[in-house]
Amino acid sequence: MGLIVQKFGGSSVANAERVMNVARIVTDTYKQGNDVIVVVSAQGDTTDDLIAKANEINPNAHKREMDQLLTAGEQISISLLAMAIEKLGFPVISLLGWQAGFNTNSIYTQARIKSIKPNRLQAEIAKHNIVVVAGFQGINRYDDLTTLGRGGSDTSAVAIAAALKADKCQIFTDVEGVYTADPRKVENAKKLKEITYDEMLELATLGAQVLNNRSVEMAKKYGVELEVLSSLNPIPGTIVKEAAKMEKMLIRGVTKDKDVALVSILNLQDTPGIAFKIFSRLSAKNINVDIILQSFGRDGTKDIVFTVNKYNGPLAVELLEDMLDGCKIVCNTEVAKVSIVGAGMESHPGTASKMFEALYESNINIQMISTSEIKISVIIDAEDADRAVSAVHRKFIPED
Ligand code: ADP
Ligand code: ASP
Ligand code: MG
Repeated sequence: MGLIVQKFGGSSVANAERVMNVARIVTDTYKQGNDVIVVVSAQGDTTDDLIAKANEINPNAHKREMDQLLTAGEQISISLLAMAIEKLGFPVISLLGWQAGFNTNSIYTQARIKSIKPNRLQAEIAKHNIVVVAGFQGINRYDDLTTLGRGGSDTSAVAIAAALKADKCQIFTDVEGVYTADPRKVENAKKLKEITYDEMLELATLGAQVLNNRSVEMAKKYGVELEVLSSLNPIPGTIVKEAAKMEKMLIRGVTKDKDVALVSILNLQDTPGIAFKIFSRLSAKNINVDIILQSFGRDGTKDIVFTVNKYNGPLAVELLEDMLDGCKIVCNTEVAKVSIVGAGMESHPGTASKMFEALYESNINIQMISTSEIKISVIIDAEDADRAVSAVHRKFIPED
């Protein structure tokens, strides 16, 4: 018995039958004597559909108006879920992000939570209500609605669990936990019993959509243990927790990220300070650069190649063309990043070569490589990405 935060993603509340299914999970937890706060996402593809509607009218709409629109998705699902819980005969109240005390900064569509004012949540819990909270949203200091970035409901749930020191934070989704690769794409993907915050953070950042990376960052910061589990199959899921309590595995997972653009600057003047000029120009426009490669200087010129998020590719080229004369700048968006993640690789030499061998055996060319203590990433042609994930997965994770 205690306080339990349960989060349900879009597919878990996609239609009336699924909403009733969630109501049963929540009320079963409540019946066992727990206080329950439920965080829900918009139903099914609602958020995508709302974005498409906006684009039909004005693809360059102000982001404030996007947030006015997108927050509507979660408003629908909280009220429907509250009605379902009421129908089962339990006391319930639904709250929008601002009613639940979510204060954020003012970066519309990518806002960060600054604080949670817990009074209302605590008052409703004290009245023994099941509280259903709209994920993905908050309010800024101008009393405007904001959203937390795609997949942000995970972060809403972790933030509540941290603020109210919940005993459990369960993330219910449409797969049975965190797998060694996307179980919808890789046949032999294995469910993990547990994973460390650091590994999960890398997997989430490198393309495993099952948890939002900011939610993992926050869970680590506040020591919130997470369980990722299925809303359709009541079996234990995957626990995300501190490394100290866990055996190291060489590879915890393989990911793919197709939202990558490769920008090449060719025949650049080989003078001191040029890299500083280029990357400070990009950072001034909030363009995050990931992997950077620089060639040796030759005949007074050199090449610099780097990756950015696909959506920032054209802007990066435009900014650099304005600034650099006499060199050629090309942007290739037909690339993908494939990565392996695992804390065990720190103490296992040869992990990188094993990954490269898998790619070589599948005749896949590597364009860039980047490594850190617990991950290795390669940039390859986008059309090879799925084959690469399967080949690398086969190399490291034994088949049944
Ligand atoms: P929700 O709507 O519940 O937030 P998401 O669609 O955001 O769900 O995330 C769940 C999806 O993440 C799964 O359907 C699965 O296809 C995908 N996924 C990608 N990589 C992984 C992984 N390593 N383990 C589990 N699921 C993954
Ligand atoms: N509905 C939002 C999205 O689709 C938030 C979420 O699902 O977590 O991104
Ligand atoms: Mg999600």
